[in-house]
Amino acid sequence: PPRVRFCPSPTGNPHVGLVRTALFNWAFARHHKGTLVFRIEDTDAARDSEESYDQLLESMRWLGFDWDEGPEVGGPHAPYRQSQRMDVYADVAEKLLVAGHAYHCYCTTEELDARRDAARAAGKPSGYDGHCRDLSAEQTAAYEAQGRVSIVRFRMPDEAITFTDLVRGEITVQPENVPDYGIVRANGAPLYTLVNPVDDALMEITHVLRGEDLLSSTPRQIALYRALIGLGIAKEIPLFGHLPYVMGEGNKKLSKRDPQASLNLYRERGFLPEGLLNYLSLLGWSIAEDRDIFDIDEMVAAFDIEDVNANPARFDLKKAEHVNAEHVRRLDVQAFTEACGPWLKAPFAPWAPEAFDAEQFATIAPYAQTRLTVLSEITANVDFLFLDEPVEDEASWTKAMKEGSSDLLVTARAKLIAADWNAEALKAAVLAAGEEHGLKLGKAQAPVRVAVTGRTVGLPLFESLEILGREKTIARVDAALA
Ligand code: GLU
Repeated sequence: PPRVRFCPSPTGNPHVGLVRTALFNWAFARHHKGTLVFRIEDTDAARDSEESYDQLLESMRWLGFDWDEGPEVGGPHAPYRQSQRMDVYADVAEKLLVAGHAYHCYCTTEELDARRDAARAAGKPSGYDGHCRDLSAEQTAAYEAQGRVSIVRFRMPDEAITFTDLVRGEITVQPENVPDYGIVRANGAPLYTLVNPVDDALMEITHVLRGEDLLSSTPRQIALYRALIGLGIAKEIPLFGHLPYVMGEGNKKLSKRDPQASLNLYRERGFLPEGLLNYLSLLGWSIAEDRDIFDIDEMVAAFDIEDVNANPARFDLKKAEHVNAEHVRRLDVQAFTEACGPWLKAPFAPWAPEAFDAEQFATIAPYAQTRLTVLSEITANVDFLFLDEPVEDEASWTKAMKEGSSDLLVTARAKLIAADWNAEALKAAVLAAGEEHGLKLGKAQAPVRVAVTGRTVGLPLFESLEILGREKTIARVDAALA
């Protein structure tokens, strides 16, 4: 069974690209009854933080992911935080140096820049030129005497590297395009280029599924893997599959910094985890040509990495909302009510908890559930039930209250007061009032809606009035007329 990994760096709010990578790894592991390793790549002390780490774990749990090895669950390859594995990397780097797979490079940034610019000007490959590959003992001693510091560089073999990407097919990279690369900083800190494949090797990862942005590091990692196999550190080179880019506004790559990319944004707006995951699964994959709504179990049953499409995927917020809305519809009433919970409390609902009435909410909930796109919309849709007076919204008021609206309201008030208090009768009352003033139902109900709820749009009006009750409804029409 496969062993896959999800290995983010805790550098800020998780973004949707990261969530998609987690999802595809998780679905792949579950589909194949394999193992998902969750590893924290926190070797960059300047960018990683404990707060981001906590947030990452909390986000993973909120999304409903579980993992078989990693933080909080442990496992045979613990620890799963790279910051706690520094001795492992130092040891491997030393072995690579001793075996000649790596060497000390004393070039300064200025020297590297100057040589790169010259190579560019001459139209030659501009990556590292191998200057320190074969320093003699005297040259090394001279550099040391000058007080130069060195980084550790991996020696790339002088041959093309070919691999079969699970998403993209066969890829061959020529040696001039993959220069020797740094694996340990001058201060001894190991780099992503080392720690990531070393841990993949030690944790016996069989499939590396990650974003296309990492495609260019794959030939380097394969070469490093070969060296590790020679040293008895790795067993086998994993298979690689690179998930397509996600494009945002203006067909530009969705970047981490895009506000649209932040997972928290979707949580704050009231996406359901199942709705968001369903949508993200469509970024590069599909369950069937004519289906885009499904639950996570269906995805697990159907998912395979070979079916992922290599073409860039477009992030479409409207579509995401549509998918989420379908998942809102699928909840049972109790789950829906629970999911709405946060938005029925302060700070979103200033009237809660004192004025909240669970029974009334239960009556209105079914109407809300078939209409909301995201759960945060619940507050504005039900506040007319719990506020003493409807919200004051100038724009709605101006839009609905036209000349003749008070005459209409006077007529409607009389008919409402006389009506049986149920939605059907209330509708007939407003319809009849409209007829007297030459107004169709839509036009006639607008002033009533604004008078009672404060807004021009909302849940079905007559059901809303029925639930609010006669006394409050009439009092609000009176207040609007005053
Ligand atoms: N820590 C890396 C990142 O978050 C992992 C990349 C990989 O999957 O190899 O970009």
